[in-house]
Amino acid sequence: MELLTYPNKTLRSPCQLVESVTPQIRADLSLMMEKMDAWDGIGLAAPQCGISLRMFVMHLPGEGRYAFINPEIEILNDDTSSMEEGCLSLPGALILVTRPATVKIKALNYNGKVVNHIYTGIASACVQHETDHLSGILIIDKVESYSRRRALQNVWDHEHPTKG
Ligand SMILES: [Zn+2]
Repeated sequence: MELLTYPNKTLRSPCQLVESVTPQIRADLSLMMEKMDAWDGIGLAAPQCGISLRMFVMHLPGEGRYAFINPEIEILNDDTSSMEEGCLSLPGALILVTRPATVKIKALNYNGKVVNHIYTGIASACVQHETDHLSGILIIDKVESYSRRRALQNVWDHEHPTKG
């Protein structure tokens, strides 16, 4: 399982629904959890690993590791929250992203059971960021062109560091 980075085309393709939570799906999710920790991420979406399916994993500091399959996000009020977000697929980029502050997420969990969670703060930003990945949306799409250019310059600098 490899980490795909911008501008890999798989990151831009809408993902397919997971039809059933098979042992293969669970094996992919387990490996994604391992990789998420190894790559120091708090979230990792399947398309970032080359799997074009609607699922992601999350591991917030001090919490367990959770899988979300076929997530649906509902915005619960008009409040917004702005947070600096990074993305494993955009190494070196940090972008201030404004999102709905409180969301409800409905999904299947690792065992294929329906779960509902209400999230605020970093968990809310994380589930929205990862669900965006499943539609081919990246954080560079969330900002105006100047910030986007600067963020991509950082990605470029990160991948081609000036030595000396
Ligand atoms: Zn990301």
